[in-house]
Amino acid sequence: MISPQSIQQVVSRIDIVEIIGSFVKLKKRGSNYIGLCPFHEERTPSFMVSPTKEIYKCFGCGKSGNAIGFLMDHEKYSYVEAIRWLAARYNVELEETQTSPEVRLQQQVAESLFIINNFAREFFSKALNETDEGRSIGLGYFRERGFTGETISKFQLGYAPESSSAFTSAALRAGYKLEYLLKTGLVVMRQDQPADNYRGRVIFPVHNQSGKVIGFGARILKANDRAPKYINTPENELYIKSRLLYGTYFARQAIDRQDECLLVEGYTDVISLHQSGIENAVASGGTSLTPDQLRLIRKFTGNLTILYDGDPAGIKAALRGLDLALEEGLSVKLALIPDQEDPDSYVRKVGAAAFREFIAREKKDFIVFTLQVSLLEAGNDPRKKSQLVNQIAATIARISKLEDFTRQQDYIHQCSQMLGIDENGLVALVNRYIREKVRKEQQIPEAEARQLEEDATGDSHPSDDLTDLVLRGDEMQEEGLVRVLLEYGQMDWEEGKKVADHIFEAEIDFDLLESQMAKRIIEQYRTLYLNQVFPDAKTFVYHEDPEISGYSIHALEFPYEVSPNWKVKFELEIPTRSEMYRQDVQSVLIWLSLAKIKKLIAENQKEWNQAGSYEDQVALMQLHTHLKKMEKELTEKLGTVIYK
Ligand code: ZN
Repeated sequence: MISPQSIQQVVSRIDIVEIIGSFVKLKKRGSNYIGLCPFHEERTPSFMVSPTKEIYKCFGCGKSGNAIGFLMDHEKYSYVEAIRWLAARYNVELEETQTSPEVRLQQQVAESLFIINNFAREFFSKALNETDEGRSIGLGYFRERGFTGETISKFQLGYAPESSSAFTSAALRAGYKLEYLLKTGLVVMRQDQPADNYRGRVIFPVHNQSGKVIGFGARILKANDRAPKYINTPENELYIKSRLLYGTYFARQAIDRQDECLLVEGYTDVISLHQSGIENAVASGGTSLTPDQLRLIRKFTGNLTILYDGDPAGIKAALRGLDLALEEGLSVKLALIPDQEDPDSYVRKVGAAAFREFIAREKKDFIVFTLQVSLLEAGNDPRKKSQLVNQIAATIARISKLEDFTRQQDYIHQCSQMLGIDENGLVALVNRYIREKVRKEQQIPEAEARQLEEDATGDSHPSDDLTDLVLRGDEMQEEGLVRVLLEYGQMDWEEGKKVADHIFEAEIDFDLLESQMAKRIIEQYRTLYLNQVFPDAKTFVYHEDPEISGYSIHALEFPYEVSPNWKVKFELEIPTRSEMYRQDVQSVLIWLSLAKIKKLIAENQKEWNQAGSYEDQVALMQLHTHLKKMEKELTEKLGTVIYK
């Protein structure tokens, strides 16, 4: 683990404009920078970076975050990877903290397994190349498959001898612990004796993304009904099947270059394709794809092409789990290898050029393909067809809408034609599935969702800033308070007084804030400030608590800034909010007081309606008049500050 101090050091050096500027061409506009969004296609810039707020935000696709978030999103780094990248850039030496005993133990186990796997890889490689048995049986098999010596050494292929414990004794002699040997699956207990798990098999080492061996696949060579064709490493600290794809280490650069990942079923398919020069291929092992595997592919490319052989089981396996791929933003194509061949045999038969051509010509869109197959299956059965329409609408709804709106529209157009139904009807159906999905994700009760749906579809409810304000109410004003505090807190309010002082002196009862997050942020700000630490947006945007940083980023997003396109279009210099920050602070404080007053008025009204005695009624009426007067004053005050 990297120490918090080191992370702090890295964070304090981040210059968000410089970091994002190394990936996106940015132009200065007022106090911000704008550029073409790297997360969606656009011709006019709507991607904005704010150096004062330390965040970026795209007005087109809605993405926003801090510099670390940008690196994670754009470069597909993990948090730790992003920190390491920044540390290297700013020459910060990272200090690693003491890890907890459990974590350290796990690391030790993982490290030991790596060492054993490496020992095993060498053992199997020697057995293949340097023993008579290996040369005749193992190499014989690989040669028969057409693998060259170069390929065999690139993929570090090996051979496990027939003997019952050749590897086990070599490993124990070399001093490896039996406990760990068992964990690797290389050794098993037979009649209370440790023995080799792989006997008389060819060995395919499985590498992680940095090229270290995490496990093995062992293929049987003799016909034997009782033994499985392949034995794979059991799940352990290194080998987590749901997260790995065979061949990623060798394929990752080619995938990136060609912006396409070919997915095949087995080890030999990958190896044959690579040998022929088609290097952007990985294998799933034949099971349906998991979300982790899809994310792994998504790190390198947005285009997945699945190659499957003709049998129905293969097709079914290929289709399973692909709805998930759409949610990951992958564009999925399918290509059927003809003539009962598999990718391995087919590429050997026709060669790389013809193979590539074949894929380019034959690959079919996943949604369209599924629809074709299902339409054939449904025939003239109206019930089946209506099921199909719903199913296809649900699938299209899974395409993440913000990023792929055009793609979604294309599908709707194409599918409605294939189904012979009205396009608008399919649009409505898809939208219903999207709303259903949103409702489930946000856990909005159904009744409320229906209301929202009516609001969204009814003509009488044009949505504007006001309805937004009404709908979000307290939440938005409190966010506003956090925003002005983080953004302007350390600027001068007047001589000898900072904005933060002004806010803390204002008559706001912070305990009355509805949002726990707003409360926590304001509390932390005040504590730091009282201790002579001067927090700014960065302190919270990069806060170690992801909830706090998330809330801060959200609050700091440019809610009321003049649209950047305005400036682009009219080249007008409009005073930005940071130039009018006093008004901004004042208006937030007034809105906040006004909201509380309105609430008091409503509560008072309720009590008034239920009041029994005459005296109570009079007192409550007087309070009402007083509150109304305050409300009026505040509203007038609000009119004098520019608020948009
Ligand atoms: Zn965007």
